[in-house]
Amino acid sequence: MISENLAIVKENIKRALEKTKRTTEDIKIVCVIKGRSLEEVKKAISCGIIDIGENKVQEAKEKYNRFHLRGGIGIRWHLVGHLQTNKVKEAVKIFDLIHSVDSVKLASEIDKQAARINKIQDILIEVNASGEETKFGVKPEELPDLVKATVNLKNIRLLGLMTIAPLVKDKEEVRPYFRRLCQLQRELNNFLLKAYNLQLMTLSMGMSQDYEVAVEEGATTVRIGTAIFEK
Ligand SMILES: *Cc1c(COP(=O)(O)O)cnc(C)c1O
Repeated sequence: MISENLAIVKENIKRALEKTKRTTEDIKIVCVIKGRSLEEVKKAISCGIIDIGENKVQEAKEKYNRFHLRGGIGIRWHLVGHLQTNKVKEAVKIFDLIHSVDSVKLASEIDKQAARINKIQDILIEVNASGEETKFGVKPEELPDLVKATVNLKNIRLLGLMTIAPLVKDKEEVRPYFRRLCQLQRELNNFLLKAYNLQLMTLSMGMSQDYEVAVEEGATTVRIGTAIFEK
């Protein structure tokens, strides 16, 4: 089932790309394994998944210990959920990419803990593009200041932006939020190129309910669980 589902997801991504003028062929699929059994995760890896996403540090740690050294070489770990400051020390040991940085305080703690283990930690900034009250993520108007703060931290490398769209019935409803994130990235890149000779290349947006729309609007990374593991 997982291999069939994955084939469908890839086909849908290909079709979404064909609707756009984008030249990228390479959309990264982060397979989100929250709540999945080790068997399911192993199956996904045997189907060619190399990017694994978790939304909790503790759960990632348990699975990481099982996989990283035993046949899991080459697996890349992504933290897609909210990160608390007191979990940063563990998180920097595990994750190749942290998608959910949304404050200067969190970025500074990541920088500090990464420095301790001699690591340059790749991060994305999570943006609350929809303005929902309950969501994590920085407000669009606060984004430039957070970007300026993070690019000056030596043990952090900012690669791009991430957003979580609201749950909706009709996936077309989320298109404006994805478009907005892409636009924000373009504006930032104009500034970053001049000021730092830097470009953000990663846009992490789109989940099982809406990844095709996200790809049409410029996603480079989609985060998918249900559509891979369930019928
Ligand atoms: C769970 C989760 C996903 C995957 O959601 P599905 O609907 O199962 O595809 C993606 N991103 C985040 C942040 C998540 O927590």
